[in-house]
Amino acid sequence: MFAGEVRLNSTLLPLRKPTETQRAAMLTRLFRIHGLFVASHPWEVIVGTVTLTICMMSMNMFTGNDQICGWNYECPMLEEQILSSDIIILTITRCIAIVYIYFQFQNLRQLGSKYILGIAGLFTIFSSFVFSTVVIHFLDKELTGLNEALPFFLLLIDLSKACALAKFALSSNSQDEVRDNIARGMAILGPTFTLDALVECLVIGVGTMSGVRQLEIMCCFGCMSVLANYFVFMTFFPACVSLVLELSRESREGRPIWQLSHFARVLEEEEDNKPNPVTQRVKMIMSLGLVLVHAHSRWIAEPPSSNSTVEVPRMGLSLGDSIPKRIEPEKPLWQFYLSRMISMDIEQVITLGLALFLAIKYIFFEQAETESSFSLKNPITAHSLAQRRGQDECCRKEPALPRSPQKTATPMVEATKEEKAEVIRPLPVVKEPKSTFVLGDEDSALEPPTDPLPKLPAEPRSIEECVAILKNPELGARHLSDVEVMSLVNSKHIPGASALTHLPYRDYNYSMVMGTCCENVIGYMPVPVGVAGPLLLDGKQFQVPMATTEGCLVASTNRGCRAVALGGGASSRILADGMTRGPVVQLPSACQAAEVRAWLESPEGFQSIKEAFDHTSRFARLERLLIGLAGRNLYIRFQSKTGDAMGMNMISKGTEQALTRLQEEFPELHVLAVSGNFCTDKKPAAINWIEGRGKSVVCEATIPAKVVKEVLKTTTAALVDVNINKNLVGSAMAGSIGGFNAHAANIVAAIYIACGQDPAQTVGSSNCITLMEATGPAGEDLYISCTMPSIELGTVGGGTNLPPQQACLQMLGVQGASQDSPGENARQLARVVCGTVLAGELSLMAALAAGHLVKSHMAHNRSKVNLQESVGTCTKKAS
Ligand code: NAP
Repeated sequence: MFAGEVRLNSTLLPLRKPTETQRAAMLTRLFRIHGLFVASHPWEVIVGTVTLTICMMSMNMFTGNDQICGWNYECPMLEEQILSSDIIILTITRCIAIVYIYFQFQNLRQLGSKYILGIAGLFTIFSSFVFSTVVIHFLDKELTGLNEALPFFLLLIDLSKACALAKFALSSNSQDEVRDNIARGMAILGPTFTLDALVECLVIGVGTMSGVRQLEIMCCFGCMSVLANYFVFMTFFPACVSLVLELSRESREGRPIWQLSHFARVLEEEEDNKPNPVTQRVKMIMSLGLVLVHAHSRWIAEPPSSNSTVEVPRMGLSLGDSIPKRIEPEKPLWQFYLSRMISMDIEQVITLGLALFLAIKYIFFEQAETESSFSLKNPITAHSLAQRRGQDECCRKEPALPRSPQKTATPMVEATKEEKAEVIRPLPVVKEPKSTFVLGDEDSALEPPTDPLPKLPAEPRSIEECVAILKNPELGARHLSDVEVMSLVNSKHIPGASALTHLPYRDYNYSMVMGTCCENVIGYMPVPVGVAGPLLLDGKQFQVPMATTEGCLVASTNRGCRAVALGGGASSRILADGMTRGPVVQLPSACQAAEVRAWLESPEGFQSIKEAFDHTSRFARLERLLIGLAGRNLYIRFQSKTGDAMGMNMISKGTEQALTRLQEEFPELHVLAVSGNFCTDKKPAAINWIEGRGKSVVCEATIPAKVVKEVLKTTTAALVDVNINKNLVGSAMAGSIGGFNAHAANIVAAIYIACGQDPAQTVGSSNCITLMEATGPAGEDLYISCTMPSIELGTVGGGTNLPPQQACLQMLGVQGASQDSPGENARQLARVVCGTVLAGELSLMAALAAGHLVKSHMAHNRSKVNLQESVGTCTKKAS
């Protein structure tokens, strides 16, 4: 029998033992269902919990305990003898408890929501209420110890989990989402909290067996406190959060009134909230051990006799057997409390004094730091994000996808200093001293703004004031708080975020984007990805991913691929490989500029520059300098291989170093810009067409007449004719540079978007000349070639680092750096681009030759939706 199988009724059934992950998932589901139930039925849960608590109390009262002290009922005086050392210890404990609570509230304040504070306060009060009830119930007559144990109880209240759950709820924008988020928070926090409560109970419970009376009493209180805390956290607290948020929404006619932008990172934080499996395991083992210790000491070491009762540890000073009497009210409330205050002991004065001092400090002298420490760099984008949480129709509700081990950062949120450092990290390659060069217009990698965030007022300003700040070019939205931005949105001074309803933003690993690919992120743009292929190229088959919204494009390219494959496939060659950067430098005179040029063209000059250039990268190796001169300006085109990277950053870095070296040689040389448009990047330029840039590739194929007829539905003669008159003569007539093709840019752009290339480089990369000839014995076969001299692409760096784009590169087997030979992956990708362009050319040219173009676009590239109607509806709605 194989391992993992069990013989049952003579049949082999696989032994279906739930794995650890499945068990964890089941547990999580259980807590999620519980959370959803509690959040969906808040009234029922609150009333149920309160009723249960009151029932316990009343049962207690009916069983004879009528010693509930408070209001102006004086508790019966006890014959107590408290040592002065005990008083000191008690006072210290009380003070520590007060300070602890103070710090907990201070932490809560960082969240900047009055709701969290309110709800947490409610939680604390109700927990202590439940706790006292439980204690009264179980300890029956012994009430006085409550007073002493209270500080310990306070120390055991941990508001952080309650606060985390509240954050989940508060990061919702609709009541439905409140429920979902509470369920989600419960699923994440519930198991940890349960385990923590169990472990805490067991650990503290050990103290109840110590034999030291006072310790036993305290530990007993501790256990009850933990249990009460747990009970309230699991029932009353989420129900209250849900109810409070529902009521506050209703009170503002459905508009959310809480500030959510601070919580923009909450959903990502759930990763942090997730329990560490190692800690969890340690806790489980520990609790098992402790259960054994308890079992041994209670049931094995001291077997209970038949008439024995479980002795509840007594706390504080016993009342003995005397039955106390309730003292009737005899004086007014104020008099009662005044007399109590006057007759206060020194330790009570200290405790009360400290509590008052911290409360006054907290309320009056601590400004909420929230606005400055949590506010966003761009309140409008942050606001949009916050507003859009809860737009269920465009965002899945499942828990976030597994993320990379790298900490996930939420867009735009400047949460903590550490996160800030992580979110706005510099580009990894720029380690050199800060450049003094002016970047060209194609270079968008500008310095991130470094000016500090403005200090914002705690209270929102008037709409007029906010509008003035928004319109002031020197201030702008940065100088408005989130509340103010929201009020501007509500008053229609800022366009509503509803425009972004359908822009998704969830389930995306922003950690790979921030500081590398995009700034002011508000979401991501899903573009449909189709696949064309197989493309039979150089004896290999490729399924080519194409991201596009142009109907027909993928289908047409697919048809081209089929024709190529039936013709025996296409062949390609790399003609050149070298990325370029062309700075502009200026000299005092044209003659001096000519001297510099001569020096650069000399072997020693070139070598000197090359050394400076090459040491900046493991892959960049200066191969050539092409120098243009205009008056006293010099345009130096640095050309280098860049391995598998497209190489613009890499080569810019090398160029910068080379220019520094050049300045050392010619101190009078002035660098005007590290990009002088002589590169030329992202603009049509003859230099790229003639000299080449990036990868220069040629690809060819022969398509038999039969395939031309059956697949392309045309003839070789017609194709050749259209190609000459359109792609050659037509483009010449238009004065085209590098545009001697039908639609190379279509294919280049679609592959670039799918594969994480810089889409703006479609400009230079789609330079292509498509040639067609009749060939074969009967002259009816078609010979086609595409020559593309400037394909600018890479398989490492930039957008190729993002997982979806990597998936597309993996489809082509070219993701990342080539292990065998640096640059090979990028070159292979360039061949695929050229091969796919050839397929695209073939198909479109065939459609044109056969007169099918308009017909097929009408069928496949026209929305069936009556756009006019929807425009009408919109207008109607707007009016
Ligand atoms: P990059 O990510 O800036 O640089 C490539 C990095 O990958 C380098 O650190 C390189 O190491 C490393 N690397 C590891 N293995 C490699 C391999 N096999 N081949 C090549 N490099 C390898 O990427 P880039 O291509 O230079 O720049 C691309 C980005 O620049 C894109 O985001 C693009 O949009 C943007 N861009 C910039 C400009 C500009 O003017 N700066 C212009 C257009 C586009 P080394 O450190 O040893 O080199």
